[in-house]
Amino acid sequence: MLTSATKFCWNVRLTDGLLAERAQTVRDKVIPYQWKALNDDVPGAEPSRALENLRIAAGEKPGKFHGFVFQDSDVAKWLEAVAYSLMVEPNEEWEARADAVIGLVERAQQSDGYLDSYYTINSPHLRWTNLRDHHELYVAGHFIEAAVAYYQATGKDKLLMIVGRLVNHISEVFGPGENQKRGYPGHEEIELALIKLYRLTRDPAHLQLARFFIEERGREPHYFTLEAQARGDDPSAYRFDYSYSQSHQPIREQSAAEGHVVRAMYFFSAVADLALEQGDRELAEVCGRLWENTVNKRMYVTGGLGSQAYNEGFSTDYDLPNSTAYAETCASIGLVFFAQRMLQLAPKAEYADVMERALYNGVLSGMSLRGTEFFYVNPLAVDPKLCAARRDHSHVDPERRGWFGCTCCPPNIARLLASIHSYIYSASTDEIYVHLYTANVGEILLAGGRVSLRQETAYPWDEHIRLTVDVEKEQEFTLCLRIPGWCSEPEARLNGRALQPLHRKDGYLRLHRAWSPGDTVELILPMAIKRIWADPRVAENVGKVALQRGPIVYCFEEVDNGPDLAALFLPREEELRVEQDLSLDLPAIVGRGVRRLPSARLYSSDPPAEEEASIKAVPYFAWNNRGPGEMRVWINEL
Ligand code: ZN
Repeated sequence: MLTSATKFCWNVRLTDGLLAERAQTVRDKVIPYQWKALNDDVPGAEPSRALENLRIAAGEKPGKFHGFVFQDSDVAKWLEAVAYSLMVEPNEEWEARADAVIGLVERAQQSDGYLDSYYTINSPHLRWTNLRDHHELYVAGHFIEAAVAYYQATGKDKLLMIVGRLVNHISEVFGPGENQKRGYPGHEEIELALIKLYRLTRDPAHLQLARFFIEERGREPHYFTLEAQARGDDPSAYRFDYSYSQSHQPIREQSAAEGHVVRAMYFFSAVADLALEQGDRELAEVCGRLWENTVNKRMYVTGGLGSQAYNEGFSTDYDLPNSTAYAETCASIGLVFFAQRMLQLAPKAEYADVMERALYNGVLSGMSLRGTEFFYVNPLAVDPKLCAARRDHSHVDPERRGWFGCTCCPPNIARLLASIHSYIYSASTDEIYVHLYTANVGEILLAGGRVSLRQETAYPWDEHIRLTVDVEKEQEFTLCLRIPGWCSEPEARLNGRALQPLHRKDGYLRLHRAWSPGDTVELILPMAIKRIWADPRVAENVGKVALQRGPIVYCFEEVDNGPDLAALFLPREEELRVEQDLSLDLPAIVGRGVRRLPSARLYSSDPPAEEEASIKAVPYFAWNNRGPGEMRVWINEL
């Protein structure tokens, strides 16, 4: 059995700080903005037509389907984000809008439970005939996640009933029985959604269906081959190999993260969930292997994933090019999901470290500070001239955009940030784990009773964290505080008295005692400016260095440092300091560097001329909020 499992806690309210502000921006700006987008009401942005499709599928309007095969999932993700925001901040207007959308979804559902406007409008007779390329099960997964969230937020079960009928229909179509299809989705998502549903309903059929989709994947004869033949297509004409959808092998045989990153992250998250639910040690070990490969060989320093545009995915170990990176916002979001599942399997700080890295860098960079522009890909070096001129940079936007034809990222950021309060604490019967530091109040139920926690901190900008424990009467439990991997000399005080030495296990400071009302723990996580070097097998970063302070990765922008950022050098011994940047109102890192000057000739036997230059780095997530220009995370080291 997996005895160390903990559950994440939902009864948490962020009170202040960067995450609270970003979550508030989602509630105030992103959810209303996306509502307009779903209603094709954003001037200058590509129309979504997502609600229009559902109206046509419901028979309420004539017309054609518009958008991608997974266009319905934008509606589902919006509903999920609204649900999380209602948990934090009740809002009758948004709840009424969500109820109306759920009514529309119900009317678009077919009498046998089927729900997918693309096939309903275009070709009902072709349902479930192309799982490899089309996204019926993916869309179903997003509706299931939305239904669980909306029920938990409002107690209303209409969407839960809709997805219940949908899941019953899917359970009839798919499975090991003689008249069933042994298929599984080309784009994973429904697996983790079904386990969420199971955790709410405790209906074994929901877990059983998730298990079927997970274990069936990659078995021979390969379902996607048989399915293509049945359609009359040539399976060998497929432009990817099956690793694209992690179906090149059964999951228990996989040892590296392959293919399309978002698919991989959603799949691995579901595998970790399944391992936990069935106490499956072998499957947990598989997750450990895939985790190791992902974060130690294939992850950008920003928590970005995906080295190439071709498959929106992984290439090979240590291949992490900066300017052609894919690093889709959804990939970092998926990594947060995977990390959270790994933490549930075993609370180790290394998982929370990656969760934090991805969240504060690769995820937050996906949204502008205003909350109305978004990045789809998040490279670590951008030169707008290359984006315009080079085919291999055609996937890179040098500026965030209002909306995309393929809109997976913006609503995904919205649902993650709207629910970010549920990523702070996890608990078992007598342990509370603090994974993320941010000002908040939380209530956690342990076997011995209710525990209230208050975190006061300006993290991630300040190193001081003060936790106040409140219990009704003296209560014994262990409070486990994550010591981030980037912090070398942490200090802690209990009720003002310094704790020495710090008793740590798996990266958590463990404080076991009978807690009294008003007990306080102060944690000091010194935030020195850190130079980060990549493993030299990451070819592009040899001779380069990145800057990090606390969990925040920094980058150099043209607006602060002038053009030709590739000509900047940072001496190893140069002292760097933190200074508030007034244009962003965020801490910047400043110091002196060296700039190589342009030469009169393309090639010369004379060494290049140099001059001293002041340099400034700003948080990576905040880049491109002051107009277009070059950006670089990795800078030459002298
Ligand atoms: Zn995306």
